[in-house]
Amino acid sequence: MKKRALITGVTGQDGSYLAEFLLEKDYEVYGLRRRTSTPNYENVARIKDRIKWISGDLTDLASLIEAVRLSDPDEVYNLAAQSYVAASWPQPLLTGQITAVAVTNMLEAVRIMKPGCRFYQASSSEMFGKVQETPQCETTPFYPRSPYGVAKVYGHWITVNYRESFNMFACSGILFNHESPRRGIEFVTRKVTDAVSRIKLGLQNELRMGNIDSLRDWGFAGDYVKAMWLMLQQDYADDYVISTGEMHSVRELLEVAFSYVGLDYRDYVVIDQEFVRPAEVDLLLGDCSKAKQKLGWELEVGFNELIQMMVDQDLLRVESELRAVEHLKLPI
Ligand code: GDP
Repeated sequence: MKKRALITGVTGQDGSYLAEFLLEKDYEVYGLRRRTSTPNYENVARIKDRIKWISGDLTDLASLIEAVRLSDPDEVYNLAAQSYVAASWPQPLLTGQITAVAVTNMLEAVRIMKPGCRFYQASSSEMFGKVQETPQCETTPFYPRSPYGVAKVYGHWITVNYRESFNMFACSGILFNHESPRRGIEFVTRKVTDAVSRIKLGLQNELRMGNIDSLRDWGFAGDYVKAMWLMLQQDYADDYVISTGEMHSVRELLEVAFSYVGLDYRDYVVIDQEFVRPAEVDLLLGDCSKAKQKLGWELEVGFNELIQMMVDQDLLRVESELRAVEHLKLPI
């Protein structure tokens, strides 16, 4: 019998890598999809026909109960969220409904329909916010600094609570920033690698940024989804920090990305208050020794390699967009 997994947020960066990983392991993969007039399957284009799609919405408990009934999953990965920190100030209530309360919807659907199923909650290093110690580990107290971070703290604790209240196999993965060529364009890594490609190809001549002194622990999303799966293969449910244990500034990110194509970021970057946040998380640095020891999890892609991989992909994409535009201009 094939194992079955239900993934929420399957069309996002992490969902698409996880779906590929589970299909490789011969899982039947079910993906929850929210109805929209213009669906976006870009991240899952290569595996779209291998995913069994179920319509539903995280804010609609009935649809989640039905999704669990239809998929009868061995494992549920709850990755869907309003996941962009900066958007959580203008939309704090929506962020609370999707990123916080909807975790309870998903847990309730599992508790009612398939309580023996294993559950993964996508928690976030943003919960550490104004960090209370460095590096941050599973026992570091939370101090979120955005409506997004506050919502993720709720999602984390409700997952722990369902584990303790109902003896459910529910794990919370506290993942530090993880990036890839599939990262949303509004996140800082992708914003930079996309801009570098456009500048290199003569389509843009400046890049407007916020706080470039902030420090993050950036890893590769493809490595991080393996940790999610490993958490659900253990004898006991638990919570784990997943990180690289290395910290870099946004400024270093700019240096690596621009110098990779032979440019100096100082010639292009302009600081713009529009991108400075009402409250900042100055630094994040994770201690993932528990995951390494208990899960046997290992990183494969380092910081420079990650950023260069993202620049390479953006260059290819922008070049092909350019070719398409030039093709349209050709006389018939
Ligand atoms: P986050 O850690 O989940 O908020 O991930 P982001 O990639 O959105 O932001 C990482 C850091 O980059 C934060 O400290 C931001 O304040 C900083 N940053 C500086 N300039 C920008 C920018 O133009 N866009 C974004 N998204 N972040 C920026």
